[in-house]
Amino acid sequence: MTSSSYLWTPPEPAAVAVQGHAARFPVQRLFFVGRNYRAHAAEMGRPVDPRRDRPFYFTKSPTALLASGSGAPYPQSTSNYQHEMELVVALGAGGSEVAVEQAPSLIYGYACGLDMTRRDLQLAARDQGKPWDTAKDCEDSAVISPIVPMPGRVLERGRIELRLDGKTRQDSDLSQMIWGVRELIADLSTLYHLRAGDLIYTGTPEGVGAVLAGQLIEGSIEGVGEIRLQLEAR
Ligand code: MN
Repeated sequence: MTSSSYLWTPPEPAAVAVQGHAARFPVQRLFFVGRNYRAHAAEMGRPVDPRRDRPFYFTKSPTALLASGSGAPYPQSTSNYQHEMELVVALGAGGSEVAVEQAPSLIYGYACGLDMTRRDLQLAARDQGKPWDTAKDCEDSAVISPIVPMPGRVLERGRIELRLDGKTRQDSDLSQMIWGVRELIADLSTLYHLRAGDLIYTGTPEGVGAVLAGQLIEGSIEGVGEIRLQLEAR
């Protein structure tokens, strides 16, 4: 037996479509930033003061990825499944202890993302000081649009919005992020050796809310693209 044989066929690596390319972006890890827009932090009852607070993160398994345009069943063990529209940074190079000025050199491109959340589980966990894993890292909960290559470019502004069955629910601007793309890459690189293939979901603006089976989520980010998720009956 060689080291390249397996008991069964391993799954294909997680990957995301890239606009204008036949080849796909191979995914390493999924990082998510918590409370990166003031108005969202306030609506969650946990206001952020960047003079005192640092960004914080959670992760999802790459198996939580779902391509934009797909349908997904309403998940198990929740009655409060919520949408969070986010800008996703796709890294094309790695680094550790990356200086803010060097952070753009890690950027491959950007995508639209949905950080779908079992909010009832999250609030219960939060209030009991327990981890968020089962609230956040649920199947099909990391929705992503095709990555738009923009190597080295820092997005600092642009409308970010989400519609539920055609009605606007989230409508903000990337300029409202507390910590920008450069700062997030630099800060995260003090915690992890970042690698090509890592994705960073940069946090959601205010207006998060519940979705129901049968509803259609559509989001967009100026200069990046659009994202779509159809919730289906379980
Ligand atoms: Mn989020």
